[in-house]
This record gives sequence, structure tokens and C-alpha cells, in this order.
Amino acid sequence: MLAGRRLRPVDRGAASAAVRASSPGLLRLEVVAGEPEVLVIGGGFGGLHVVRALSKGPAHVTIVDRHNFHTFQPLLYQVATAGLEPADVAYPIRTIFGRRSNVGFRHGAVAQLDLEGRRATLLDGAVIAFDHVVVACGAAANFFGIEGAERYATPLYTLADARRLRDRLLLTLEDAEEQPGIPAKPVNVVIVGGGPTGIETAGAVTELLNVCLRRDHLRIDPASAKVILLDVAPRLLGGFPGSASDYAAKVLTRRGVDVRLEASVASVTSDAVILASGERIASSVVVWAAGVTATGTIAASVRGAGPSGRIAVAPDLSIPGHANAWAVGDAAAIPDGKGSTCPQLAPVAIQSGRHCGRQILRAIEGRDTEPFTYHDKGIMATIGRNAAVAKVPGAPLVKGRLGWLAWMSLHLFYLVGFRNRIRVFVNWTWRYFDWPSGPRLIMSDAETAD
Ligand SMILES: Cc1cc2nc3c(=O)[nH]c(=O)nc-3n(C[C@H](O)[C@H](O)[C@H](O)COP(=O)(O)OP(=O)(O)OC[C@H]3O[C@@H](n4cnc5c(N)ncnc54)[C@H](O)[C@@H]3O)c2cc1C
Repeated sequence: MLAGRRLRPVDRGAASAAVRASSPGLLRLEVVAGEPEVLVIGGGFGGLHVVRALSKGPAHVTIVDRHNFHTFQPLLYQVATAGLEPADVAYPIRTIFGRRSNVGFRHGAVAQLDLEGRRATLLDGAVIAFDHVVVACGAAANFFGIEGAERYATPLYTLADARRLRDRLLLTLEDAEEQPGIPAKPVNVVIVGGGPTGIETAGAVTELLNVCLRRDHLRIDPASAKVILLDVAPRLLGGFPGSASDYAAKVLTRRGVDVRLEASVASVTSDAVILASGERIASSVVVWAAGVTATGTIAASVRGAGPSGRIAVAPDLSIPGHANAWAVGDAAAIPDGKGSTCPQLAPVAIQSGRHCGRQILRAIEGRDTEPFTYHDKGIMATIGRNAAVAKVPGAPLVKGRLGWLAWMSLHLFYLVGFRNRIRVFVNWTWRYFDWPSGPRLIMSDAETAD
């Protein structure tokens, strides 16, 4: 282990150039006395909390992310449905750690990870050497190999996805409007996946349609603007108690969503979703909210990655066979102590990130590491204005306005950046009182037109 010494990659230009120019046999990295170098791949919840735990310790940390910002994924659906601006749910990673002299940021995507050689190669060819590495690269949308899904459906995983979906929804509405001599076209928004993301998106799309028709006076027949929510399971919100599923289905149906359960999607085309039963559902926009996978991410390239690409970590979150390599959050299959793995949720990423940072410090100090224990504080999902479900272990299900207030408070609490919290709070308040608002801006044609 190189603990107690530091490879000098932040002068990383020089180290990287040496690595790129040399054959493996002649590889030469400059080693200087100093703190151990920790590389954290990914600035999501997991990565940020690893860095926070390490930032006051005897280590130099480099956080590398393909985006220069952290994304608050739980509110992406509000960006996609023109409730919030992209900047409201993202925060520059450099700004988060601006005051920490032992933390550096590198903008770039890790393309190769060599755990034995202790170096990561970025897409631009640069090489970063490390003493410890944490894989916190998250996951990606899972299309389950369904024909046409990746091509024609829009996932909701990144900020770019959310912006793309917003444009698609608004363009579809503009395109559907009645014109002189041309009748209005029907609008069918099909959402695949009845988990929290699917139901939140379905609720928010109905609100968007309502605002566009009522406030923006789009000439579209309300009866021909439909939101269809599909799930293969017999109920919505599979991870919640049955009463939460019933409540969500009831509220969505009352708000005009066509909820179809036990509907298995066989393929997606440019204008329809085809079910396994053979039924064809016409679609103007298809939102893919059917689940996530780590397959295709850098995590899946690590030996020991499981079937969905997640790295099966040891109880202390280290990668088996590598005392200096760790994985956290969505990228890791973390034992839950009950024979299964922890869910891919923000609290798991936060807690595992924090624990991992502490274990690296223990390893640096030569102390034994400790197993991770997940403290389940509950789950919640909103269906829209005044309607949400919240389940805390051991307590009864909270639903309705109380659940919605709890959902809003918790999301404001976890949102990164004080300015973002204020902006989101003001936006929500503004919308609640029904003032015409919201960034209903189509940016894709504006960006290419000039
Ligand atoms: C739409 C949506 C809604 C959600 N809603 C909720 C919710 O309501 N409640 C809840 O608890 N959880 C929710 N989740 C899940 C939660 O957001 C995730 O569990 C959590 O963000 C995982 O954190 P992470 O750090 O592991 O990964 P992420 O937050 O995904 O961060 C991974 C980071 O790694 C970067 N990265 C990836 N690959 C590379 C690479 N090769 N090189 C460099 N950087 C890379 C990415 O750019 C990203 O910044 C939601 C997820 C989604 C997608």
C-alpha cells in the first residue's frame, strides 16, 4: 500500500503524460512524501459523502465526474415537467468543496479502472493514480433489452434526460394544437413503470397538461390529451404497503391518469407502445421509468460485478480481493444483513458514502475496518399537489396532505445548496397558489436555430 506517500497526479498533467508516453514496462510515476491519494469516481450522493467524511482527514481526495455538477435525481421529474429549472436541482461540485484544500475536482469520465495497478484512465487519455479508489458512479436506466425502448422512449436519469423530456412534452403539445383548417391532434403520454418515479411523473404530467390548456390556452381537446401509466406488476409502488398502492392508483385515476396494471411492454415504436398481449397503445411521448441497472457503467467492468452490474461489496464496503478499493451507492450491491442487498435509494448512497469515507480513514491509520449497517428511515413518494405517501418503519402509513408536506420538507433538506433550497421553495409556493409560472421553455430548437 502506498499510504503515507502520495503519487503526484494533480500535477496530474505531468504524471498522466508520463503514463501515456510510456510502455507498461517503463511506467514511471513520480512518488512524493505526503498524504495518501484517494480517488472518488462520481459526485452523486455516495461520492459527495465519501469526500465529506474524508475532507478533514489525512488524505488528498480527487473527485472525478463526467459532469461538473451534482444532480439531485429525486426532483428530475419536476424539471422534465417544467416545474423547476435544471439549475434548481444541480450544484457545481467544485463549489461544494471549494473551501477544502485537500479536495480537488477533475471533470471527465473514467473509461478504465485498473485496481491492481491502482490507476484510472479517463476518456481523454489522462491517467490518475491512487492509493484508494471509491466507485460511486451510480447506475443507468434499465431498458431490459425491450425492442425499441432505448431508441424511442425517454429515460429520466440525468439532467440532460430531464431537459430532453421537457422539450419533447412541450413540442408535442405545440405540434398537437389545432390550426386553421387542421384539427387538434391527440396527445398520449405513456409512462412505463409504476414505482415512485413513474407515479411522480404521471401526476406532474397531468398538472403540466392542465396548466398548458388552462393557462397557456393551447387549443387541444382536453378529452384527447391522455396520460397512461403502465406497470407489469399487479399494483403500483411495489416497495410500499398495499394501502399506499391503492391510494396512489385512486388519486392518479381521479386526476385523469389511465392506470394499467399487469401490462407488460413487448416493444416500443416511434408512435406506439406494444404490449405482450398484442395491444397497441398510441404514444406521442414515452417516458421510461422502469428501473435502473449498473450494467454499462464503470462499476460493471470491475471483477466481481453482479448480474445487474453492481459490485458485490464486503460488509465494510471494500471490493473483495482489494483492500484499497471500495464501492458505494447505486453502483454497489451492499449486503443488508438479512441475506439480501440494500435498495438503490438516496439514503443508502448517503450512509454508505459516509461509512466508506470513515473506513478509508481507519485503513490509513492502520485500524481494522467496521461493517456497514443501513438505518432505514422510511420511503416516500408524491403523486402531486396535496397527495403523497410516506412510510416510516414501525409507524402507520402517512398519506394525503401530511405526507405531501413531509415529502416536501425532506426533499428541501436533502437538496444540495442553500440557494437551490430557497429557489425550489419559492417555486413550489408560487405554483401552489396557482400563479402562472414554470419554465415552459423549449430549448432544443432555440439552441440550434441561432
Ligand atoms: C428519477 C429518479 C428519482 C429518484 N427518486 C428518489 C427518491 O425520491 N428517493 C430516494 O431515496 N431515491 C431516489 N432515487 C434514487 C437516488 O437518486 C439514487 O439512489 C442516488 O442518487 C444514488 O447515488 P449515487 O451516488 O450512487 O449515484 P448517482 O447519484 O447516480 O451519482 C453518480 C455520479 O457518477 C457520475 N459518473 C457515472 N459514471 C462515471 C464515469 N465513468 N466517470 C465519471 N463520473 C461518472 C455521474 O455523472 C453521477 O454524477 C431516484 C433516482 C432517479 C433516477
